[in-house]
Amino acid sequence: MITLSSINKSFDGNRVLRDIHLTIEEGTVTALIGPSGSGKSTLLRCINLLEIPQSGELTIGIEQIKFAPNARIKGHDIRRISRQTGMVFQNFALFPHMTALDNITEGLVTVHKWDRAHARKRGEALLEKVGMLHKRNALPNTLSGGQQQRVAIARALAPSPAVLLCDEPTSALDPELSGEVVAVLRQLAQEGTTMIMATHDLRLAANIASQVVFLEAGEIVEAGSAKSLFTDAKKPRTAEFIASLS
Ligand code: ATP
Ligand code: MG
Repeated sequence: MITLSSINKSFDGNRVLRDIHLTIEEGTVTALIGPSGSGKSTLLRCINLLEIPQSGELTIGIEQIKFAPNARIKGHDIRRISRQTGMVFQNFALFPHMTALDNITEGLVTVHKWDRAHARKRGEALLEKVGMLHKRNALPNTLSGGQQQRVAIARALAPSPAVLLCDEPTSALDPELSGEVVAVLRQLAQEGTTMIMATHDLRLAANIASQVVFLEAGEIVEAGSAKSLFTDAKKPRTAEFIASLS
């Protein structure tokens, strides 16, 4: 289980996340929706500690970390948490000079200290899973956006993180390429991969998320099943936002 409690994050006094409480059960998919600037990416980045909240508490499985305004969080504690997470970015962020396979094995070898043969096996298995084994020796700039994103998903999954964080995984892709990434994400969801995903794509959210969270101005306005939010929102702001996208 992942829990965020009373998470607050400001940038130069500008409060971007306000008193966030969220529970994510193992094996479920949570979609974060909300207007541009509402704090979706920041929330994801506070879970893998690319950003450090000013206050609150984060638990991922047995790992727990507390934040306080003047406390310096140790690098060791940041790594302890961030290694529980894998991240997929809107623009894939593959290493441009490395093959698809090396993109996956590199972190396993250098960060996680796997031996190369073991890492290679793992990389190939993951490339096969995302339908990219035939491109294992290709450089990223020779792949389509959808193919690059599938490699990026494989890379994020390589060390078996407790949670896969996806920030707008399909929004840089045109609909056809986006479909192949959605298919991979849907398969992962069916296999019980715990995921938290920021998305503007309500169809994607409705398709694979068991929990949808509507954020506005750094606050959770409403959270519930996709069906309850999309067809029976309790808060007028949620209904307005959903109507504005559909
Ligand atoms: P989008 O849908 O456009 O991706 P978002 O919901 O992901 O938006 P965030 O990127 O989390 O929104 O941004 C939330 C707010 O935090 C914005 O006002 C943004 O300008 C601010 N912000 C985010 N990162 C930083 C930063 N590193 N320094 C200062 N302000 C930041
Ligand atoms: Mg964002």
